[in-house]
Amino acid sequence: MSTTTGEGQESPTTEEHESALETARRQLNKAATQLDLEPSIVERLHHPMSVHEVTVPVEMDNGTLETFTGYRAQHDGVRGPFKGGLRYHPEVTRDECVGLGMWMSWKCAVMDIPFGGAKGGVAVNPKRLSRDEKERITRRFTQEMRDVIGPMQDIPAPDMGTDPQTMAWMMDAYSMQEGETTPGVVTGKPPTIGGSEGREEAPGRSVAIVTRATCEYYDRPLEEITVAVQGFGSVGANAARLLDDWGATVVAISDVNGAMYDPTGIDTHAVPSHDETPEVVTKHADQVISNPELLELDVDVLVPAAIGNVVTAANADSVSADFVVEGANGPVTSTGDAVLEERGIHVIPDILANAGGVTVSYYEWLQDINRRSWSLERVNEELESDMLDAWDAVREEFDARNITWRDAAYVVALNRVADAHRIRGLWP
Ligand code: NAD
Repeated sequence: MSTTTGEGQESPTTEEHESALETARRQLNKAATQLDLEPSIVERLHHPMSVHEVTVPVEMDNGTLETFTGYRAQHDGVRGPFKGGLRYHPEVTRDECVGLGMWMSWKCAVMDIPFGGAKGGVAVNPKRLSRDEKERITRRFTQEMRDVIGPMQDIPAPDMGTDPQTMAWMMDAYSMQEGETTPGVVTGKPPTIGGSEGREEAPGRSVAIVTRATCEYYDRPLEEITVAVQGFGSVGANAARLLDDWGATVVAISDVNGAMYDPTGIDTHAVPSHDETPEVVTKHADQVISNPELLELDVDVLVPAAIGNVVTAANADSVSADFVVEGANGPVTSTGDAVLEERGIHVIPDILANAGGVTVSYYEWLQDINRRSWSLERVNEELESDMLDAWDAVREEFDARNITWRDAAYVVALNRVADAHRIRGLWP
């Protein structure tokens, strides 16, 4: 399946049969109970502020006209402009966008970024589009949504089926109509037109920072830690390499073809990542194991960083790691999560662990609206500091309430959003 390059997600930690929106609402209710929130605020947060649906008519390469349906769900803007990915996928629906937009609200809030959550998409299979068709869809979708996006309104980013080039077309289409170059309308752009240094590595870097903080919290020196990473793409390879550089022993990495296992430690820089040469991990391995076997390895830290729903009720009993750090979005299902909790395995949730992506998107936006450009060193320093602040806030709730790390992250996020609603009040 395709994965994201932006701050988007596949789906929240879903029950096997649950929709993204149902899961998002269930998680909201759970965190609200912890906080004893006013029902009026919970009621507001159950619903998106708005959902925009447009028809995107496009002339295909063969001269025929096709129409596609596009959405932008803006969940909650109380803390700032909406932020979230734009995906091209045949199964994009209104409700999925609402659920994923809600999830973005929490991700931005847990990082204390002044953005609200949104998600959009076009129901189309991007694999059957030529480059020109994709460009025409993108430009027309941007035009249809022009009144509701913008640097101070709603800032899309790449997600499944979209990439930096898609963002460049969006930025260009928006700028041409506005009459001025407006790089801040989207993030995840190529660096030559206002993309940020360090954006690509950011989610993997945040996974590594959070893993290190977790090990420190439990008095487990990184030098004594073994790690298995599923997925050797943008998130997995960057996380694995940083943890390797910082002294941990990475014993397994994988791609869609299977996993490389070496109990003495893998030189993670010697194996090409998905972006460098796709799907060659097993070609570098002396010992190959399967992806399901990787998930069950007796390691200290397991980082599922490939796809969603890989740790489920069916295999959570066999997970042997002490810590699971969610690099991918939603790699542990709700039922899998319950089993891990019962077994005392700590899960550091995606909304914290991979939030480096949206955080550096925020830095990109800051650079764009201020017409400045930050060095890679500055981006990484700011990211480190923001990740540790977020981790500390979550740790405080974890210590104070005797709840899981996932619940603690939701409590931090929801508290911030609810506070903003309380202080701003209801208009009129
Ligand atoms: P990527 O395409 O760069 O890499 C994905 C890796 O996973 C590849 O090595 C691929 O071979 C492997 N893979 C694919 N299907 C697999 C399967 N069924 N079993 C095992 N391995 C498989 O993707 P990415 O950008 O690293 O994203 C990975 C995950 O992280 C996704 O869940 C994505 O939504 C999430 N995420 C990405 C970002 C981002 O900005 N890149 C941000 C937040 C979250």
